[in-house]
Amino acid sequence: MTRTISTQAISKLLVANRGEIAVRIIRAAKALGIPTVAACSEADVDSMAARLADEVQVLGPARADQSYLNVQALLGALQASGANAVHPGYGFLSENAEFAAAVEATGAIFVGPSPDTIRRMGDKAEARRTAQAAGVPVVPGSPGELFELDMALQAAEAVGFPLLIKASAGGGGRGIRLAENASQLAEEFPRAQREAQTAFGNGALYLERFIGKARHIEVQVLGDGKHAVHLFERECSLQRRRQKIFEEAPSPVLNNLQRETLCASAVRLSEALGYRGAGTLEYLYDEASGEFFFIEMNTRIQVEHPVSELVTGIDLVQAQLRIAGGEPLGLRQSDIRLNGAALQMRINAEDPARDFFPSPGVVQELIWPQEAGVRVDSHLYPGYRVPPYYDSLLAKLIVHGRDRGEALARARIALEHCTLSGMASTLGLHRELLAEPWLHHADFHTGTLETWLAARRMGGAA
Ligand code: ADP
Ligand code: ADP
Ligand code: MG
Repeated sequence: MTRTISTQAISKLLVANRGEIAVRIIRAAKALGIPTVAACSEADVDSMAARLADEVQVLGPARADQSYLNVQALLGALQASGANAVHPGYGFLSENAEFAAAVEATGAIFVGPSPDTIRRMGDKAEARRTAQAAGVPVVPGSPGELFELDMALQAAEAVGFPLLIKASAGGGGRGIRLAENASQLAEEFPRAQREAQTAFGNGALYLERFIGKARHIEVQVLGDGKHAVHLFERECSLQRRRQKIFEEAPSPVLNNLQRETLCASAVRLSEALGYRGAGTLEYLYDEASGEFFFIEMNTRIQVEHPVSELVTGIDLVQAQLRIAGGEPLGLRQSDIRLNGAALQMRINAEDPARDFFPSPGVVQELIWPQEAGVRVDSHLYPGYRVPPYYDSLLAKLIVHGRDRGEALARARIALEHCTLSGMASTLGLHRELLAEPWLHHADFHTGTLETWLAARRMGGAA
């Protein structure tokens, strides 16, 4: 996949993120011959990203609002380093249109879509309208944002119960509440409004019918502003608190016709947007009716992107950099083939025995598996102190096989060959999960993992 021509327009890349994704971005830039600058907080000066990058710029104190979310500090680092491009990773400012615009206003390249596209898709209520206009079905819901309880109660009559109250500016599984009836809606709506205002600086809400027993299936796209292609789908139905913990590609339940139809809808919507860069369109799949509903678009690289890389052989972060550097896509849909199956397990610094309480610490023993078909994306090294201030993701264990059965078998062995001491993690949880027949039969939906966790607690298991 690596071509020898280097990306012309990016002469130096500022990595505006931390953890495993900062490392991932630095590696992709190195492969393209692009020098890198790690923009990090004071808590991260010893991080693997800081060690691997060609230069380091310290943004400020550990707190994210003073470092990774501090636009002025990032613009300062951009100027001081002489970098001419910024990769925002995921989370933090990756879907912040004002940040993208501020970067572009300095004359530098923002590795992602235009500020306008980020704005349109970042507002989830507006994204629903955009999807509908492109002929992509959405979950039945309120036609737009709701600011008053009266409006919400009225909209709910058409939507029907149970429903979800969602924040237009929400993300990361936060800002979503269930209401089973009108009185719950009346109770939850003002709370959701306050919460959205505090968490996202925007109190706008919308309603969506709750689809029970749905699967979360999402489509990876790449666009160059003119053309878009898809890299097939991922299934991410195994979630805790609406956050993914185990992901795979392709979805084990779609037939080729369904896959074709779904992926074509994602390309249609991306081309309607004139989409530039890597993006993901998330859908819910109602297995009972066979219907797909668009829920949102993430206008950035996603945590689970490696499974798509393994089944297509395409390096998505390199592709992001090439597109940002002005290269045309250079990929036709017919060039992109689905090869085998891939799984990703998120290893978090959380203690499953203590309700997933965060458990940062100092890495003692650390051994990663090295078998064929195994990839580990991680920023850990022995002696590394995991700071308590950020996301709990420690590593992503990713396996590839000729088919799902082989990938699952490899995952079990890979998990046995992981040693990580110094903190509690979700490694053991994945080992238990891999022993479950329902996982092997792909017999699950977005509520399955929570039910399984609740049953384990009842059974007194760790
Ligand atoms: P993915 O779909 O890539 O798995 P996640 O939803 O897990 O993405 O989000 C990736 C990271 O970004 C997480 O750390 C999450 O907390 C953070 N994140 C995503 N969206 C937002 C948002 N709107 N506000 C704050 N953090 C967010
Ligand atoms: P975020 O922006 O936080 O990622 P999403 O809208 O993507 O929020 O939803 C996160 C998760 O919540 C989905 O993956 C799914 O499990 C669940 N979910 C979202 N919308 C619905 C719905 N209408 N019905 C049932 N579950 C939903
Ligand atoms: Mg989502």
